[in-house]
Amino acid sequence: MPSRDTKPGVLLNRASPPTVLAHAVTAPRSSACPGLLRIVPARDGGICRIKLPGGVLSATQARAIADASTRHANGAAELTNRANLQLRGVRSGHEAALSAALIRAGLGPAAELSSAHATANHPHTTDPTALSCADDVRNVMISPAAGRDPHALIDTTPLCGALLTLLQSDPRFVALSPKFALLLDGGEQLARVDHPHDVWFAASPDEAGVRFVFGLAGCPGSAGATATNSTNASVGEHREANGTGALAAVPPSRVPELVRALLHTFLDLAAADATRMRDLLATRSADALLRHAQRYVDFPLARDASLSHWQRHIAADASLRLGAHAQRDDGTWHVGGQPSLGRIDAATLRQLAALAQQHGNGMLHATPWQSVLLPDIATTAVPAVLAKLSALELACDPAQAITHVIACAGSAGCAKGLADTRSDALRLAECLPAGVDVHLSGCPRSCAAAHRAPYTLLAVAPGRYDLYRRDGRPGFGQCVAPQLTIDEAAALLARLARSTPHA
Ligand code: SF4
Repeated sequence: MPSRDTKPGVLLNRASPPTVLAHAVTAPRSSACPGLLRIVPARDGGICRIKLPGGVLSATQARAIADASTRHANGAAELTNRANLQLRGVRSGHEAALSAALIRAGLGPAAELSSAHATANHPHTTDPTALSCADDVRNVMISPAAGRDPHALIDTTPLCGALLTLLQSDPRFVALSPKFALLLDGGEQLARVDHPHDVWFAASPDEAGVRFVFGLAGCPGSAGATATNSTNASVGEHREANGTGALAAVPPSRVPELVRALLHTFLDLAAADATRMRDLLATRSADALLRHAQRYVDFPLARDASLSHWQRHIAADASLRLGAHAQRDDGTWHVGGQPSLGRIDAATLRQLAALAQQHGNGMLHATPWQSVLLPDIATTAVPAVLAKLSALELACDPAQAITHVIACAGSAGCAKGLADTRSDALRLAECLPAGVDVHLSGCPRSCAAAHRAPYTLLAVAPGRYDLYRRDGRPGFGQCVAPQLTIDEAAALLARLARSTPHA
């Protein structure tokens, strides 16, 4: 029987070696995704992505990012839909200096863990390729209010740390795509559960306490809603995004062991051109994957039919990212605001860092809605923090239309963009009625949204967009009007919102 430690954070069941099939992926995948050390060229300069463990960065790190962005890039930081940050406009010749500055600030992969990748794939622990491999795998999303949300069933923070350690410790995981991602849902009300993830875990009440229900290539089911903003996602979209649905459940102590088993299963069975779990599921059934994963764990692993209609215990509410909301502990609040289209200039980032130190716990939480949360604010300080966020032009009220609009880089920053989506999005927000969620995409790649927005404006020419309404069919949904100007789109969206208020 393999040895097994039930504490999260300990690598488990080492007695079972990977079963590498003839066609299995064993080498690092090439990728065009930006990373800390892989700065990808774009029309407006290089793009550097900074992965934040659990979406959290310290005030000191925020200042380091502000300094690095001023010195080496365009002087701003962008919040991403995975609760990370990225810098754009990295100057030619500044790439190595930028990466070094961010690593010095503690924003890179754990050096001692990346040595595992170096040992297996590269002879030197300081090899940038080894560091880049370790950086790529750090994809675990949790709620920005993890450990603080009054409705959470469990604090996912320690387990998130354990999974990040696991991902960086196994040399074989360099073969995962940088997009391969895990979701760890603690049952918070403030939770993003509409992004399909390769493997998802969701806390569920159990007689013994809490178990984690899990599924592949989808999202946790929701008791009535998987809110994308303040509106509910459609049943059709949920079906589209739900992958295998809930497969089975394990106690929290077994989550790392199960993740390891599922990732080895993916790497054993996936073809070289299969980068995501959904690609593998197109060729193998979920039951076949569980049977294969069984060889890596010493507890029974099979589909639990009683979970086929499992749902989260509470509907997610993304509007809680904005404004002030009470935390689990009496007298403490999290206060959040959203910069326009997720972009923060360096001066604002420094002021947010100062605010977190003055009134919070010195930490900033990035959210997957491209906003910022300051946790642990005392009741007496809430008005001052809200006032400061507003002074910094961060929207703190979900009634503000700008909190419902997202846009990719568009033609100003990306060669594939057919329109200047960011400028058009700002103009649209000025005349959009409250509560209409719209995504402007410069091309069909949909970089700004991992979910399907209720409405998508897909650029077809400068200043011209086709309008799609989400209806459950693949892609953006149904095209309801072609070739609209922004003013025409705003007028039509207002009419559509009046006739279908919960679209
Ligand atoms: S969606 Fe298209 S235009 Fe927009 S950033 Fe992505 S690739 Fe570029």
